[in-house]
Amino acid sequence: MHDPAPGTAARLTVDLGAIRRNYRRLKSALGSVAAAGVVKADGYGLGAVPIAQALWREGCRTFFVAHFEEGVALREALPEAEIFVLSGAAPGDEPEFAAHALAPVLNSFREVEAWAALCAKRGPQPAALHIDTGMSRLGLPADEVERLAASPRVLGATDLRFVMSHLCCAEEPAHQMNPRQLAAFRAASARLPKTRLSLANSSGVFLGADYHFDLARPGSALYGLNPTPGQPNPMEGVAILEARLLQVRHVDPGGTVGYGAAPLAQGTKIATIAIGYADGYRRAASGRGRMTCAGHEMPVLGRVSMDTVTLDATGVSDAALLPGTWVEVMGPSRDADAVAADAGTIAYEILTGLGRRLVRRYVNG
Ligand SMILES: *Cc1c(COP(=O)(O)O)cnc(C)c1O
Repeated sequence: MHDPAPGTAARLTVDLGAIRRNYRRLKSALGSVAAAGVVKADGYGLGAVPIAQALWREGCRTFFVAHFEEGVALREALPEAEIFVLSGAAPGDEPEFAAHALAPVLNSFREVEAWAALCAKRGPQPAALHIDTGMSRLGLPADEVERLAASPRVLGATDLRFVMSHLCCAEEPAHQMNPRQLAAFRAASARLPKTRLSLANSSGVFLGADYHFDLARPGSALYGLNPTPGQPNPMEGVAILEARLLQVRHVDPGGTVGYGAAPLAQGTKIATIAIGYADGYRRAASGRGRMTCAGHEMPVLGRVSMDTVTLDATGVSDAALLPGTWVEVMGPSRDADAVAADAGTIAYEILTGLGRRLVRRYVNG
């Protein structure tokens, strides 16, 4: 990997080849079932456009974003892709969706009616229909499914591409919600016009073929997060987060470090690293996180600040700690799930919270 522009303090390297291999792994777990790419929240913080383009080259034709603006940006990059907007269209926004060839996920009976009204004027336009089977977040609740089942003509000229639902507990294979949602999805979709069906997110892919239907919607697994927590990660890590070592100092016993002046009982060697909570390295990892430099794992000492983190480098030779050296914050030595655990959160939140200041670079596209 070539070096970034001189002066870079903290960088995020995204391996598009690894994302493509993860897509292939999911495809092989799915057999003949299609796999979409979920690239909402700027591709889970890693960059929706380069990632979607890499997935396109891998044969992925269907993409999900959460918000309209994300769809507009993706549409420019992929003129021929099928792009679904999970949040749906707010009342009156339907023509904007059609203008950008974005397909709303219809989340309520009202949204179905509004899309059908647009289709009545302009001819069939693609959409998906979301039914709620337990998430109680988005999608038609049971009574609205009944209404639609009783009057399927409400769909009008809608080009209904599939009916979907979303699993609440797929990362816990033994959870009773999985079979319950599966049964509810089967029952509800059987009452609606026959079309393709979609239920599984990343973890859902690993619940077995019953959960696959016609289209899976993996997001996190593409980005290397473990879809099978508690078991070895079947996916490959795709992102490396590194920051420069800025300075090393020795603090005598009785000295302090960082905001709040955490006391140092012993003489301590401290390495200051150019990354902080402004870059998405969580303040909650204060005194808990770990980073790796030249094979040495060093604990975070004291509070994480906005632009810097201090590490306990006691026992590491000065030769390994030259200013300008890259320190691995997240990557092969500490994956996103581990970095998240250090901060008491989940890897989804770590990736989507990566700061805008990081220099992003894409390799193996
Ligand atoms: C985010 C999301 C997904 C992808 O979930 P992962 O757990 O990241 O695979 C799929 N479907 C819906 C409706 C989502 O909101």
